[in-house]
Amino acid sequence: MLAVENLKVRYGEAEALADVSLHILPGEIVSVVGANGAGKTTLIRTIAGMVKAAQGRVVFDGQDITGLDSTGVCELGIAQVPEGRQIFPSLSVVENLRLGATLRRAQADRKQNLSRVYETFPRLAERQKQLAGTLSGGEQQMLAIGRALMANPRLVMFDEPSLGLSPILTEEMFGVVSSLHDSGFSVVLVEQNVVESLELCDRAYVLETGNIALEGDGKALLGDDRVRQAYLGL
Ligand code: ATP
Repeated sequence: MLAVENLKVRYGEAEALADVSLHILPGEIVSVVGANGAGKTTLIRTIAGMVKAAQGRVVFDGQDITGLDSTGVCELGIAQVPEGRQIFPSLSVVENLRLGATLRRAQADRKQNLSRVYETFPRLAERQKQLAGTLSGGEQQMLAIGRALMANPRLVMFDEPSLGLSPILTEEMFGVVSSLHDSGFSVVLVEQNVVESLELCDRAYVLETGNIALEGDGKALLGDDRVRQAYLGL
């Protein structure tokens, strides 16, 4: 479904991604784990068309999408739930959700997608008119996920969705990712909760200073000594 080939990204002199190749098959959850500054957000932002690659390609459904802007990438069916949520605090819940559906690809299914978001997150349905900035942290995260779903995506990329959430809400959030996967979405998951993230995914990549250091089955990586030492402190 998605292939990233030899991606290199620089911010001025600093190299954030050196030479990254990975792929996502239809319906897979693929986790990307790595230390702070390893390049996880840069990877997501480059796929999403928000950061330009210095070298390499991103291919979606056989189409080269390298260099496409973020609207163009969304129109093809790739949505992201960005780090820090980035919702509009002074707009209501429903207004934020509608903003997720301004794409051409989202128009026809707008009503159906809104119902699905409210079914997935009843809390948002109860608070449709409430200003997004007054929602709790967990509710804001639900809203960010809901907004991504309004874009009618086939691939959803999550950047640190559990950031700032309590352990209970973190569990809930992993449940939501899992149910999206069950309903057929493909998922890229960047998460600090390495254990949960590797348990949930089909496959994973470990990113270290802009390079893929390890890849494989999530549960196998959980048993890998290097992963256990570097990320689990074992
Ligand atoms: P974290 O887990 O801390 O969010 P990350 O793995 O997502 O980290 P990135 O945010 O992709 O890492 O950053 C990769 C490298 O690129 C870091 O060294 C970071 O300082 C640098 N970087 C990121 N954004 C910029 C920018 N806009 N300008 C300059 N350097 C940047």
